[in-house]
Amino acid sequence: MRNLIYADNAATTQLDSGAFDAMKPYLLSEYGNASQPYFFGRKAKLAIKNAREVVSNCINAHPEEVFFTSCGTESDNWVIKSFSHSSKQAVIITSEIEHHAILNACDAVSESTKIIKIPANAKGEVKCDVLESILKECQSYHSNAQFLVSIMTANNEIGTIQAIRELSNVAHKYGALFHTDAVQAVGHIKVNVEEMGIDFLSASAHKFNGPKGIGFLYIKKGVHINPFINGGAQESMMRAGTENVASIVGMAVALKNNIDNLEKNADYISDLERRIIQQLQASGLDFIRNGSDNHIPGNISLSFKNSDGEMILHRMDLKGICISTGSACDSVNTQVSHVIKAIRLDERYAKGTIRISIGKNNTIEEVDTIVAELIKLFHY
Ligand code: PLP
Repeated sequence: MRNLIYADNAATTQLDSGAFDAMKPYLLSEYGNASQPYFFGRKAKLAIKNAREVVSNCINAHPEEVFFTSCGTESDNWVIKSFSHSSKQAVIITSEIEHHAILNACDAVSESTKIIKIPANAKGEVKCDVLESILKECQSYHSNAQFLVSIMTANNEIGTIQAIRELSNVAHKYGALFHTDAVQAVGHIKVNVEEMGIDFLSASAHKFNGPKGIGFLYIKKGVHINPFINGGAQESMMRAGTENVASIVGMAVALKNNIDNLEKNADYISDLERRIIQQLQASGLDFIRNGSDNHIPGNISLSFKNSDGEMILHRMDLKGICISTGSACDSVNTQVSHVIKAIRLDERYAKGTIRISIGKNNTIEEVDTIVAELIKLFHY
């Protein structure tokens, strides 16, 4: 088998081995249903309780504010759709660069909900003054409406981290609730829901070395949201369905491991990132690095002049190297992505965009090979 170099960690990550070990008993021997009152069920219930405590500690929340979901997409849909149904007049303000889990959920809500997508600047930053002027204007037209602002903590395609504390302050000043899609941020940068003034936060385990098919939604105590799935009494009757105990346990172990090593991992990944950029700059290739200086460690969006990101992806694939053209969830769409369009990148570069996303398991040798193969691809 040829060697694999995996450099698409913003799409998904390798499962933490400690998380895998912690999950195994709940798949093989401790498989009780957490809703059953006998001891075998109570063991599963206790495992969920402990995991909820760990997860909530990692984001400075209370355990009862964490609701387990099946993924980041579900968490995003829960907030957007619940908000749209909760009142006759709802206004949702989001940004042009959100993940499709937000944008397509907004497209699917009832017509009575007004959706406003605010622009980002060339670095992919959503500015407070832009949000404030939109909120001011909207409130003059929709004085009786309920407002939700949903701005992602970090962008999946270009890595830009938003000034969430400042944005949530603006939202609250105008009486709006504040949601953030933190799927790319949780487990990679410090996320503190209290300090950041967050009402709702979405996260997904497979982005921080947890299992796929599990995530969570943080809902601030006292903030109203409708249940997302009706049925049994699971998740305090907010999200019914027999719990995925093994994955919940695995998610908690993976998140705690990443949080305990947050700075160490970030330093290591940032060193690899610098190495890639320095080598590419020295090669003389004509490219632009997208995003802001304040970005998720290892998220490297590059746009090569007069090139084709799809072509680069497939040529790298032939060498056993996994990179992306942007969002993993958008791989069927071969056009310039909505994020690259939104930052208004020079057309000569836009089509030649790729994303290399380095993770804690990548090595110096791997990043050197990635750069060498990229340079070869352009020179021959
Ligand atoms: N939001 C962002 C910013 C993402 O990057 C992703 C996945 O790429 C999602 C939401 C969807 O998460 P999930 O794959 O867990 O549904």
